[in-house]
Formats: sequence, structure tokens, C-alpha cells
Amino acid sequence: MDDNLRWQSRQRMEKSASALEKNGFSTALFDSCDEAVKFLIESADGAESIGFGGSMTLAQLDLPGRLAAMGKNTLVHGRPGLAAEQRRGIMQQQLNCDLFLTSTNALTLKGQLVNIDATGNRVGAMFFGPKRVIVVAGANKITEDLDDALARIKNVAAPPNARRLGFATPCARTGFCSDCDSPQRICRITTILDRRPRATEMLVCLINESLGY
Ligand code: SF4
Repeated sequence: MDDNLRWQSRQRMEKSASALEKNGFSTALFDSCDEAVKFLIESADGAESIGFGGSMTLAQLDLPGRLAAMGKNTLVHGRPGLAAEQRRGIMQQQLNCDLFLTSTNALTLKGQLVNIDATGNRVGAMFFGPKRVIVVAGANKITEDLDDALARIKNVAAPPNARRLGFATPCARTGFCSDCDSPQRICRITTILDRRPRATEMLVCLINESLGY
């Protein structure tokens, strides 16, 4: 990334982090993936069971693999070869894990976390159940406000996600959201965390890179 763009991106991270802190979330900012990974590995030290929301960001940082190699009980429902009942069982365990790691589809400069899910396991675990939640996001996920966040999710994040997951939605074919009625529609549950959920310890880690969708 060009130095000037990197600087601007850092300003946006700081503004968003300041708003998140006002809304009760803890935050940590990183200029590189390496710094963030080191911090996240250290943060996972006291956790035995670690759940993962389906996330390209976490996959890009290889966090499931790194933590499994450290002997942690990693709860990854997207592992290849799992039967539907096994996936469901892992999702249920994620709701009761020591540490839940996830990304967010968008976060706003006003300090809100915005997500759209199909099943709801990821967003559910974000706001109640796990002892601790850490949200990891690249600066590319920062949006101006709620409208911008929802537009980002529908037109930037959802089409490649639907395509990656093999769903026959219009956006997976055209690259654009048509607010479809597809039986395979992935946009089913919209959540906005305006403040930190009352019973959940929640840290938002922002990385000055482009990560995930
Ligand atoms: S509503 Fe349908 S077309 Fe729009 S992003 Fe969601 S799945 Fe794709």
C-alpha cells in the first residue's frame, strides 16, 4: 500500500477505534499482520477451547492452524469432510468456548459492528456465550455509517462469499446484490452491535491491511 494511503487508513482505524472504545469495546491497533498474529497468539494463551467464526481474515492469518499446532482445542465447523451433524455440534460448542475468534463484515466510524449471517452461529457467538470474543478486521472493513456498512456487506462481501461457498445466488453469478428470494440466500440475519454486549468481554483488533472480503 502507498504510504499516503497507509497513513489515511491508519487515521480511519484510529477514529473507528476511538468510537468503539466510547461504545464499551476494547481495541488494539496493528500496522502489520505479523504484529497482530503475535498479539493474538499471546492473547489465546489462557484459553483451552477456541471457536472460530467462518472468516477469510482468520484463514489468511492462519490462526486456526497456528493455534491447533499449539495444542489448543480448535473448534472449526468449516473443516472439509465433516457431516452436517458434526458441523452443528461444533457450532454449538463454539457458543460455550473460552475464546471465540471472528472477523466482522463491516465496522463503522461510529463504533458499530455490522454483520449478516445465514445460519447465525457466528453472530450468535459474538454477542453471548463464549467467555471472551476477539474480532479481527482489516482496515478495508471500516465504513462511514450503517448504510455504508450494509451496502458494503451486500455488494462487496456477500457476492464472493456466496461464490466461495458454492451457493447458487444471483450475486454469486453477477457480482451484485439483487435482494434475492433465492432458496440459498445467505443474507438472513442482520446484527448491529451498537455497544459491547453486556455479558461479553470483547476486543476489536484492527490491522492496517486489506483482509477478507
Ligand atoms: S440478498 Fe441474495 S443476492 Fe443479495 S447479497 Fe444476499 S444472497 Fe446475494
